[in-house]
Amino acid sequence: SVPASIASALSSGAKRGLLMKGGAVIEATAKLRHVAFDKTGTLTHGRPVVTDIVPATGISAPQLLALAAGVEAGSSHPLAQSILRRAADEGVVPDAATGAKALPGKGVVALIAGSEVWITSPRHAAGQGGIGQDAAAQATALEAQGKTVVAVFRAGQPLGLIAMRDEPRDDAADAIRQLRAMGVVATMLTGDNPRTARAIADGLGMEVQAEMLPEDKLARIRELGASGGVMMIGDGINDAPALKQAGVGVAMGSGTDVALETADAAILRDRVTDVPALIRLSRATMGNIR
Ligand code: ADP
Ligand code: MG
Repeated sequence: SVPASIASALSSGAKRGLLMKGGAVIEATAKLRHVAFDKTGTLTHGRPVVTDIVPATGISAPQLLALAAGVEAGSSHPLAQSILRRAADEGVVPDAATGAKALPGKGVVALIAGSEVWITSPRHAAGQGGIGQDAAAQATALEAQGKTVVAVFRAGQPLGLIAMRDEPRDDAADAIRQLRAMGVVATMLTGDNPRTARAIADGLGMEVQAEMLPEDKLARIRELGASGGVMMIGDGINDAPALKQAGVGVAMGSGTDVALETADAAILRDRVTDVPALIRLSRATMGNIR
């Protein structure tokens, strides 16, 4: 019977760490043709490692790192954690900062010794007067290596670049391959720049839309939803609005207890292949009912 099939799918899913909020979620999941993934922390480990510290003239690499770590000290963003880990590894003490403020999808700003210190993507650095031609060329070259680059400014002066690399999860390419075989189109939606995003998406064999602000992600999910059902997978912490907008919002990994309040489903293990597994389970369940 219908309720029995649904109940057994919900409980067999739960045993494998696939939580769904009810029968309506199974029904919607069985039908969808699009899956949109957040990049950082979902397709990738979400633990970027600092690879390059490029100070401008007049400042040393440890000074640049101390300023950046000071600004990021209050941030839970994966890039912030990566800069703080590097500072700790090098024994660099973060400068004391106050009034830190995040600009979602763009960067973060705080006051250090009376000056505004910004950390932002090179693209959004235009608001700070830009980083200059040489630094822009360096940033482009680093991004083509799949690295995410941020620029540091103090009182409107560019102080240098920090590059980080966040590796894809081991099973991400396999998950995308499985989805394709099931007739599901997988797209990466990311605030990261096109060069970095493309380098990672090409490695995974998937489509990508880069430089998306949180509101752009929402608009894209609305569009995909209008053309036949979309699932959005995110880490759930800074992706809650996108998860809510999607026909089926799925929170993945350790942030999921917070996220389940807004998400329709959760994948408790950090396994991208659990996404095709969730769709397969839903399709099999609806197939039994019909
Ligand atoms: P994603 O879509 O990959 O999760 P976000 O939307 O969180 O990326 O961030 C997009 C971009 O904004 C980052 O690549 C970075 O350039 C910048 N950014 C956002 N938050 C921070 C931060 N705390 N520190 C440095 N840069 C940040
Ligand atoms: Mg994110």
